[in-house]
Amino acid sequence: MLIVEKYGGSSLATAQRVAAAADRAADHVRAGHRVVVVVSAQGDTTDQLLSLATQVSDRPSPRELDMCLTAGEQICAALMAMALGALGVDAVSLTAAQAGIRTDGTHGDARPIGLATDRIWRELARGRTVVVTGFQGVSQAGEITTLGRGGSDTTAVALAAYLGADKCLIYTDVDGVYDRDPRKFPDAQRFDRIGHDQMLALARGGAQVLHDRSVELAKQYHVPIQVLSSFRPGPGTLVTDEPPDQP
Ligand code: ASP
Ligand code: MG
Repeated sequence: MLIVEKYGGSSLATAQRVAAAADRAADHVRAGHRVVVVVSAQGDTTDQLLSLATQVSDRPSPRELDMCLTAGEQICAALMAMALGALGVDAVSLTAAQAGIRTDGTHGDARPIGLATDRIWRELARGRTVVVTGFQGVSQAGEITTLGRGGSDTTAVALAAYLGADKCLIYTDVDGVYDRDPRKFPDAQRFDRIGHDQMLALARGGAQVLHDRSVELAKQYHVPIQVLSSFRPGPGTLVTDEPPDQP
């Protein structure tokens, strides 16, 4: 199987958590799967970088802001590849430019416009696990772009679509998709399964669990997404084309 698995910032907030995420990815590799890992920046790195930028300029240039913000994912991808290496898994980290994540040129809110996946396939063919920086792309003019806050989900879904992955796993700090924010409403109900359209409505309505554009892409390319907790075992929520079951 080819698995694309994405880890969010809270799942990677410390070195120990990066190692734990690497361990999970390594399990999938040891089970015989080919694995592409997509990482967010660690913890609140992106917020910190944003704050630094606004301390040196009231109106930072969108181009330079993207240069700055994408550093968080680049650090994390290298750490993930090192952590996998320490577990005996041959891994290589790639920036979006190296991985062929092409986007339009809209700094801060770029859309993927066709991925050039040949480098990823070459690395996979060499038996390597590929770690890709989430949230970033490269424009046709060769500029570094970002996909909007929360955009590493979109990186994962775009990769799953273009690689024809068998699974797209999104590891996060909640154990699935709920009908309301489970952190605010203790009686919120988790969906075992939810349709792309209903998920899109939740994401557009402000549910943080998945980036709305990742759900749009998943719907367009019929990519099923499994939302899982990094911290607790459980079935999570399957986001699919199928009509949803009510909680
Ligand atoms: N690191 C980026 C953000 O904080 C992208 C992501 O986490 O998906 O928005
Ligand atoms: Mg997110």
